[in-house]
Amino acid sequence: MKKLLPVLSQNKEYMPITNKSPILIFAPHRDDEVIGAGGKIIQTMERGGKVFIVYMTNGTKKKELTLIYEAEAKSALHVANVAEQNLIFLRYELGSLINPKIAKDAIAKIEDLIKIIKPKEIFVPAYEGGNKDHDMTNHIVFRALKKIKNPRIDFYEFPEYNNHISFKNLPKKTFKKITKHTPFKYTFAPEFILIKGYPTLHLKMTERERKLKKEMLRQYTTSNSNDALVKSFCFPDRFRKYPYYNYLKPPTHRMYYDDSDQISFNDFKRTIIKLNNDK
Ligand SMILES: [Zn+2]
Repeated sequence: MKKLLPVLSQNKEYMPITNKSPILIFAPHRDDEVIGAGGKIIQTMERGGKVFIVYMTNGTKKKELTLIYEAEAKSALHVANVAEQNLIFLRYELGSLINPKIAKDAIAKIEDLIKIIKPKEIFVPAYEGGNKDHDMTNHIVFRALKKIKNPRIDFYEFPEYNNHISFKNLPKKTFKKITKHTPFKYTFAPEFILIKGYPTLHLKMTERERKLKKEMLRQYTTSNSNDALVKSFCFPDRFRKYPYYNYLKPPTHRMYYDDSDQISFNDFKRTIIKLNNDK
């Protein structure tokens, strides 16, 4: 049971409380920054710090939606008082980061941005086999950081998928039966794929801060039909130190993107090899 529901396990470890600023968050798509680090954004701003967000893709293949999506991001971050000029939209096309040319371009841009912003902490989505843009963002930022000498930056990641339970292989009926008897009303909060020595660090959030995080999620109107985004992702933030992945191996046997988009882990791996060879 403990293994099935790590959320319930005792001995929680907590994210250290610091006044480190500026912080820099990488969102493959708009809303990932709030899902993963909404609480961190709120707390940093309330302590008088600075928050920068880099949106990697425009989140859509429909060009006409780009500005609508960006306006939603601005409203969401406005809830936490993050200034519009601190939101950086790189506008790569949705799903395109796996293209080695685009990845290379992004690595160079991000290296420059890190040098200009000089963040004390960086946050990225974990490498978890859930979404190719997420996994590529994790890799791209890691590579950009590697190019910077003596960066003195704390590098963290956050989960957005549930790998402890394979939703995909579970019949809907069974899933409903299980969730009926759990304390979770709507869904399971994302959990890291466990890596020894890299514990999950929970962010302590007050009730008021959680309400603010919900309010931020609510601004993503186009993704929030029936309040789904808010209900699924209103959990307190959780992070862990970046665990130095071997990107030539899949993060898990439960890959979510294998059968969507005709993209497989081998496509991802091919890009990594290409970037290794191009050095
Ligand atoms: Zn995303």
